[in-house]
Amino acid sequence: MTLAANLGFPRMGARRELKKALEDHWAGKIGEADLLATAAALRREHFLLQKRIGLGSIPTNDFSFYDQVLDTAALVGAVPSRYGWSRPPVDLRTYFAMARGIQERGAAGGRDLPAMEMTKWFDTNYHYIVPEFEPGQSFEIASSKPIDEFLEARALGVPARPVLLGPVSFLLLGKSKDPGLRPLALLDALLPVYAEVLGRLTKAGAAWVQIDEPCLGLDLSPETHRALEKAYAALAAAAPGLRILLATYFEGLRDNLGTALRLPVAALHLDLVRAPGELDRALKETPSHLTLSLGVVDGRNIWRTDLERALSLVERAAGSLGPERVQVAPSCSLLHVPVDLALETELDDELRGWLAFAVQKIEEVVTLARAVREGRSSVKEALDASRAADAGRRASPRINDEEVKRRLAAVTPEMLRRKSPYPARRVLQVKALRLPPFPTTTIGSFPQTAEVRAARAKFRSGGIRKEEYEAYLREETGKAIRFQEEIGLDVLVHGEFERNDMVEYFGEKLEGFAFTRHGWVQSYGSRCVKPPVIFGDVSRPGPMTVEWARYAQSLTPKPLKGMLTGPSTILQWSFVRDDQPRSVTRAQIALAIRDETLDLEVAGIRAIQIDEPALREGLPLRRADWDDYLSAAVDAFRLASSGVSDQTQIHTHMCYAEFNDIMERIGAMDADVISMETSRSQMELLDGFRRYRYPNEVGPGVYDIHSPRVPSREEIERLLRKALEVLKPHQIWVNPDCGLKTRRWEEVRPALAAMVEAARALRGPAAS
Ligand code: GLN
Ligand code: ZN
Repeated sequence: MTLAANLGFPRMGARRELKKALEDHWAGKIGEADLLATAAALRREHFLLQKRIGLGSIPTNDFSFYDQVLDTAALVGAVPSRYGWSRPPVDLRTYFAMARGIQERGAAGGRDLPAMEMTKWFDTNYHYIVPEFEPGQSFEIASSKPIDEFLEARALGVPARPVLLGPVSFLLLGKSKDPGLRPLALLDALLPVYAEVLGRLTKAGAAWVQIDEPCLGLDLSPETHRALEKAYAALAAAAPGLRILLATYFEGLRDNLGTALRLPVAALHLDLVRAPGELDRALKETPSHLTLSLGVVDGRNIWRTDLERALSLVERAAGSLGPERVQVAPSCSLLHVPVDLALETELDDELRGWLAFAVQKIEEVVTLARAVREGRSSVKEALDASRAADAGRRASPRINDEEVKRRLAAVTPEMLRRKSPYPARRVLQVKALRLPPFPTTTIGSFPQTAEVRAARAKFRSGGIRKEEYEAYLREETGKAIRFQEEIGLDVLVHGEFERNDMVEYFGEKLEGFAFTRHGWVQSYGSRCVKPPVIFGDVSRPGPMTVEWARYAQSLTPKPLKGMLTGPSTILQWSFVRDDQPRSVTRAQIALAIRDETLDLEVAGIRAIQIDEPALREGLPLRRADWDDYLSAAVDAFRLASSGVSDQTQIHTHMCYAEFNDIMERIGAMDADVISMETSRSQMELLDGFRRYRYPNEVGPGVYDIHSPRVPSREEIERLLRKALEVLKPHQIWVNPDCGLKTRRWEEVRPALAAMVEAARALRGPAAS
């Protein structure tokens, strides 16, 4: 019998109940008991909801108070020694200390424990806590969470399948400060703990366990292949009564498929949304004992599934393996999509008809499994509705804008090139901008104070009129300009007070974008983001930033830098339409940004920054795919930025270190100036510049805006002198490493003043 299964459900609650409980708990407003009660109520609700929809297998232990990788570290007792944890279980206080650090002021000097490192989960916008391994690392079972939550679901009569992060992925995601300690070498020490967990789950009555090994979507070393073989041989032997579903996702398996199919597990999950073509190979090579779980409903995006297409894959598998050896599932955990479309009462019916959130995706999974079990006629209505929605979407005039398609088809190679090469542009820009050596600037935003946010909230809820709100923003902008002039910055910014988010602001002004009310997705811990939905051809009905830039420029004789978000970043932080290649959507956005740069130029703006902080995080999981991605991303940036005249200075900005492996591509963007986040790993970035001689100008961030610390002039000067070792003096700009919106004015004022002083010190008495 074909099983309908899920791999993971969003944890926060449809109304972000868990977020509120967590934050109240951290603020000391509610105790642990209340937090636990909220969590248990949410789990119960989610279990019963999935059961009601008709799933035959429901994930447990997919819940987390922070993150599933941190849960795994707690499960196996991988607690770094600085947290002073001594014996199981890992209590909630220790757990949150690992996630968030502890800062306590006390009579005896207090405690200041840093949190563990956090990084992005594969190619998603979800962040996990990086496991940290120490010399002499040992493991022991230190949490009963997987067993407790399984029993909880069982007691509700739910067909529960516990989820664990697999031992090999867990180790590969971890790090050690000791370069001699390779995480994979810890496998032998780790496996007995996993074996014990599986044993306890078996004893508790589990028939199945889902073990996630998303590392199977990456380029793997022979050592990793051997580690996988060893791990699953050990786990299969340890729990003979338990059937293991090995789950992979976010990418096809490619050269890892053979290894995956050979592992001694009962079932293998494939992400057939990312790699539909892999089914045929898998069917051919699947050994006769193995069940395939088919990830045919997109767990990473919010579009309604084309049931016809999905069903053809499922039927093909059922025909080849027999229906009892096929399971139907989302492509990955539904953690990455919002909970329930039914809450989106403000979306128009047409658009809503194209979407599916977690609840609707589970309905699709159930429908597909039923179609195999009971025949197509049993789900005729659902198939008809899907077909109609699909046809309606394809033909909708809201999606198709002939003018946009025509413009895109008419893009020529010249449009991707500035009129002159950088050296010629520089001569003109020096003349136009009259900047001193080591020019100073900032990255765009100034503090988004509580007042700024309150004013926006009031405006949005109709509490104040537009004129009043804009007058207030003008006042803030004016203050920011005066401040920048006072401390002597060279290239000014307007401060971005009118923006709440660097993608949403543009999305709201572009055609082809929609916004949900409750479409929240967990980003990390209690934090959620609400990505815009790009549903149609993108175009710019009118200028988006020109009025604010013009106003700010009118207040100062110094050059004001216009501030735009780049095409790859807008794409990366949105839910993107799935009916055309992402590169086409990206190019459409690039054309809209290009129009904006031309309007800014006409308005007298002489420097324009196009931010691409997310360019690197969009990199594909497999190296073999990097070239195509980077070419398209670089071309889109060039399309967006190359329309302006030579004397208009194009800046870009990137965050999240580790640029060294793509430095040449960053050079190929041909921005006149690039500012980069570096202050946490200044040495690393400068190493990159040593290997690759960056041809244009660079501002390696010299003020770490992620910390409330105010750097001294001497410190900044020291960093700049280090930069001088690998960059020519005329290449260097002086700037913070990111926007200042999360900082307070009390920190920003002295820090920027110190930064300007440091630049002046470098210029020497003659130049300043
Ligand atoms: N211009 C943006 C700002 O200053 C850049 C933000 C970012 O890089 N994430 O806020
Ligand atoms: Zn940044």
